[in-house]
Amino acid sequence: MSEKTKGEMLRDELFYKKQSLFDVRSIAELDEAREYAKGYAQYLDNSKTEREAVKTTAALLKDRGYTEYKMGDKVVCGGKYYLNNRGKSIFAFRMGSEMLSEGIRICAAHIDSPRLDLKQNPLFEDNGFGYLKTHYYGGIRKYQWPTIQLALHGVVTKRGGETVEITIGEDAGDPVFVITDLLPHLSREQDAKTLNRAFTGEGLNLLIGSTPYYEEDGTVTKVDEKVKLNLMAMLNEKYGIVESDFMCAELCAVPKGRAVDIGLDRWLMGAYGHDDKVCAYPALTALLDTDNSVHTVMCVLADKEETGSDGTTGMQCSLLSDLIDELCISMNVDSRVCRANSMCLSADVNAGFDPLYPDVFEKRNCAIVNCGVVMSKYTGSGGKYSTNDASAEFVGKIRDMFGEEVLWQTAELGRIDAGGGGTVAKYVANCNIDTVDLGVPVLSMHAPFEVISKGDLYETHKAFRAFCK
Ligand code: MN
Ligand code: MN
Repeated sequence: MSEKTKGEMLRDELFYKKQSLFDVRSIAELDEAREYAKGYAQYLDNSKTEREAVKTTAALLKDRGYTEYKMGDKVVCGGKYYLNNRGKSIFAFRMGSEMLSEGIRICAAHIDSPRLDLKQNPLFEDNGFGYLKTHYYGGIRKYQWPTIQLALHGVVTKRGGETVEITIGEDAGDPVFVITDLLPHLSREQDAKTLNRAFTGEGLNLLIGSTPYYEEDGTVTKVDEKVKLNLMAMLNEKYGIVESDFMCAELCAVPKGRAVDIGLDRWLMGAYGHDDKVCAYPALTALLDTDNSVHTVMCVLADKEETGSDGTTGMQCSLLSDLIDELCISMNVDSRVCRANSMCLSADVNAGFDPLYPDVFEKRNCAIVNCGVVMSKYTGSGGKYSTNDASAEFVGKIRDMFGEEVLWQTAELGRIDAGGGGTVAKYVANCNIDTVDLGVPVLSMHAPFEVISKGDLYETHKAFRAFCK
């Protein structure tokens, strides 16, 4: 081999070059990532809604010796706890051996995903078809939701307070639901509309049946809305609910099916709800993997991120701060000092560069699939508006924590003024906690079927592990 010139050596020393997983990871390490992804796929399949994610998470935590904590409980050093917030968000934490005044290492992700929620008065009949009206939840591209198989997940609270769980469409042999679409032969007018006007929110009605109710003598009932009656009778028989119970329900139409490998090499993974379970799972498993850390570590899995983080289960709620207050009271520490010394990785997905749509990206500052976990110093839109912009010092501190252990890259979400988006980072940062965004690059983000790389998933887990230990 010929010796390098001074210029070549200087280049190697001074230039930054984004590296791919395949440049820096051995085949054995890539296999580790494939293995890790199996656990993730299982988690994902059982966590299509935030309620299901909380259940799945709580079961994993219990398995690992975590016990349920209620606000006001006393905690002890080394104790492992989780706070189940209304069944829709969860705070898991392990008390470290160092003083709480040293701060908490917080990993925050969200477990709600874009979908179609049922309206509170959803059921209607039209021309012999029974439908459920939906109101989309989070940012969806409406055209993506017709003609795909949809399942129904959620809960209904009956009079007197009993809540029944409903899941239809996932098990083998289950029926599914669908939103129909125009045939191309008759879509000329619709085709002429812009994409955002061709499909309307009020048009996203779920087809759920078409047979009438039969009287006991085997004749079709003479009652109006025969199909609706039949559907309601079936729901009543199975779940004991009546139509007015929909008013006290949270039912969601989500894409049917499980996480699957994509491609001949099985390296990419397709599924509904990667955003943001693909960050929630690595954060959670990092907490479980760092039992011997001296730090107090907390994994927050929030709800409502997709609709702005409002409400009691969103990250704008005071619960994170209240919980830190409670822990500090229990440990006789000033919680303001604890917060000031805490740090947070706000874990959310980023837009992976898609060669089919290069125009919306700025190549030097976008997330590349298979180049590791993505750090975003800021998110927001339109001139860094509405973002936590992490300080140089804090980003530097995280870089040092990652060292050689983690393959990471930096990115903005898309080209300036192409759009933009936010995360929970700013709500944590607003509690006086240094925070930076971190996550997995995703293709087709917010679509019913999103795509990630198993390698990026695993690097994200390693990033949380390095942060927690
Ligand atoms: Mn997200
Ligand atoms: Mn999202």
